[in-house]
Amino acid sequence: MKVGIYPRYEIRTTRYEMMTKYIFVTGGVLSSLGKGIASASIGTLLKSRRLKISMLKFDPYINVDPGTMSPYQHGEVFVTKDGAETDLDLGHYERFVGIDLSSHNNVTTGGIYSAVIEKERKGEYLGKTIQVVPHITEEIQKRIRKVARKDKAEVVITEIGGTVGDIESLPFLEAIRQFRLREKRENTLFIHLTLLPYISSSAELKTKPTQHSVAKLREIGIQPDLLLCRTQIPLTDEARGKISLFCNVRKEDVIQAIQVENVYEVPLRFDEEGLTRNIIDKLNLSVSRGDLSAWRRWVDKVNNCKKEVAIGVVGKYVKMKDTYKSINEAFVHAGAANGSRVRLVWVEAEEIGEDPGKYLSSVQGILVPGGFGSRGLTGKTKAIQYARQKKIPFLGICLGMHCATVEFARNVAKLKGADTTEFNPKTPYPVIDLLPEQKKIKDKGGTMRLGTYPCRLEKSSFSYQAYRKSVVCERHRHRYEFNNEYRQILAQKGLRATGIFPERNLVEIVEIPDHPWFVAVQFHPEFQSRPGSPHPLFRDFIKAAMK
Ligand code: GLN
Repeated sequence: MKVGIYPRYEIRTTRYEMMTKYIFVTGGVLSSLGKGIASASIGTLLKSRRLKISMLKFDPYINVDPGTMSPYQHGEVFVTKDGAETDLDLGHYERFVGIDLSSHNNVTTGGIYSAVIEKERKGEYLGKTIQVVPHITEEIQKRIRKVARKDKAEVVITEIGGTVGDIESLPFLEAIRQFRLREKRENTLFIHLTLLPYISSSAELKTKPTQHSVAKLREIGIQPDLLLCRTQIPLTDEARGKISLFCNVRKEDVIQAIQVENVYEVPLRFDEEGLTRNIIDKLNLSVSRGDLSAWRRWVDKVNNCKKEVAIGVVGKYVKMKDTYKSINEAFVHAGAANGSRVRLVWVEAEEIGEDPGKYLSSVQGILVPGGFGSRGLTGKTKAIQYARQKKIPFLGICLGMHCATVEFARNVAKLKGADTTEFNPKTPYPVIDLLPEQKKIKDKGGTMRLGTYPCRLEKSSFSYQAYRKSVVCERHRHRYEFNNEYRQILAQKGLRATGIFPERNLVEIVEIPDHPWFVAVQFHPEFQSRPGSPHPLFRDFIKAAMK
């Protein structure tokens, strides 16, 4: 290895990496500006030019992954096909770019540090003092190249979580600064998303927060190439000029990111603003002609749905809608396929009490999503009983499937006190229970049944009708399972196991055939729903609800 500055950390480029271009998206002013949607939309635009895109999200927190975080802290935990518990932005990426991502597409500070510390313990740094610069920043850069290599990407879009100015995101920003230094200038692009607040009293768009946020970036050596400016009203020429002057970007590189009702419109608006052309020119990409027409047609379809159907979602975190991001999106996709807008009626399970009708009499379908913890359990089972008895189409997901099984066991099969051992370990009828191997596990992080498993469907079932396939693959995130000891008793009473993971004979789907549409699944179908390619179960659920 060469002697020189940072010889040991020099990263060799491979064939794929040589042709890879890297886009970095940072965020300023405040959080929740939609950096994830913006990054995903850039992915949509470049994918429409037939480029091979991959995405990477850096999260600055110290958790190794978001799997151990409460939904109140983090929102949805998105599960990839290889079973990584990841940030919900990966859901946006998969849906907007139409790709399947894996564990290497989401990296946290915790993940970086544990890798570095593990290497240190193995003695791989040969006597060196391990420091944020260069060791942590090197590890970060390696992860960017790993995405390029593993996904054989022509363009890697990396979103840096957090807001510029946070202590936590500094090593990531430093890493991408170094990254640009090592690459040919035309191989990297820095895009910064900011907010232009509108002050109604003076009817003005304010540029100062953007100026400050870019100043902060430049202080650490990053000059953004493009600014995406979130705004409620169209960007005036004056504001554009001011931003250009103070932020040191050309006027045409100040891109308006106007507020839209439907997030899937964002790529279209960006394209109209010339963003696609601009990125292609800056990165000197050779591309084919763009085709966003299918995307546009689909967006028009969503926006012009004439009908409406109301679905009650009975959950525990309904005040924190980010928790159910993918479910929300799956309904948009399924609604479009049925020519209907889906109006979600969020019901806090804990509030239902003994009277589900008070909350659910106006809905045409009921969904009970996944979850952890016993709060709101009674409300969920009451809602399911209501759906079962009133013959309202029902979809239960994961914990929702557990609740449906418990409800049926108690109220139809008359197994008094039937329960899941997750909340009542002493139940006389443990219809939902841990598998022996799960009982041995003590650690919480990354130890559930995670990721994709196959499921064989029974021909005469709602599920088969929806999928039209005998074997499907779906993503999982749970510890507890349907207890096979009760399979026969419950089937005799009318709750049939219609989907099985063959290798382990595990129940993946239960249905009540004597009902307009009652399906409860152990997996999370919402993770695989995409615009233009709705999940079959969500699609048929909406279809049934519309009848
Ligand atoms: N808490 C349940 C389990 O661990 C269900 C999990 C979920 O709904 N994702 O099995």
